[in-house]
Amino acid sequence: MSNLAGNFAVLEQRIEQACQEHHCARPLLLAVSKTRVADELRQAYQLGLRAFGENYLQEALAKQHELHDLAIEWHFIGPVQSNKARAIAEHFAWVHSVDRFKVAQKLSAARAESGEGQPLNICLQVNIDRAPSKSGVLPQDLQPLLAQCSELPHLQVRGLMAIPDAMATFEAQYQPLADLAACLHGCQQAFPQLPLDTLSMGMSGDLEAAVAAGSTILRIGTDLFGARH
Ligand SMILES: *Cc1c(COP(=O)(O)O)cnc(C)c1O
Repeated sequence: MSNLAGNFAVLEQRIEQACQEHHCARPLLLAVSKTRVADELRQAYQLGLRAFGENYLQEALAKQHELHDLAIEWHFIGPVQSNKARAIAEHFAWVHSVDRFKVAQKLSAARAESGEGQPLNICLQVNIDRAPSKSGVLPQDLQPLLAQCSELPHLQVRGLMAIPDAMATFEAQYQPLADLAACLHGCQQAFPQLPLDTLSMGMSGDLEAAVAAGSTILRIGTDLFGARH
């Protein structure tokens, strides 16, 4: 039996406590629902959650169809394959994982054709650990990519996202998250005309460190829904 309500209560408590301890504004809790069935999302919705994050397009589309009666804000957080960009631009309000201009162009063009009046909100994914095989733009290439993406008419660049390697201690978790916050600050200085208000960072294992470093969107799967099956 799932204990979603209990997990949610514990999570809310952790977030609240981290915000008080570090004197930070409360981030949005994005419910990461990959591998969960539609009924679990419906239950989470009934607890008050409205923003859901999905990694796989086909899986997400099936759940969107089943849950079309709910006012969910859908966020795409997985790698964007360029042949999926069209459907992603049509069916999501946010994409957290843009790291190439070619994909951004496709998303913008598809958003225009979708007839959706609002621009697609995007975050640029940063390879903040600079690990060779990881997704994300390298910090030194971030501002040029941001400059290009900010010219696309049907996207709104809102900020940055990262998935740092899992670390055991608060201090080790905090460093890359603070680095990402510093990257955002640099972008805000360089592009004062853009509404860069988003730091998508913090997962089940590092949410306290992410709050301390200034997260505005926590992406939580395991500690909300339980271990993935
Ligand atoms: C799965 C996933 C999460 C959630 O991770 P948990 O450790 O289960 O909370 C967050 N962000 C991304 C990009 C993910 O793929």
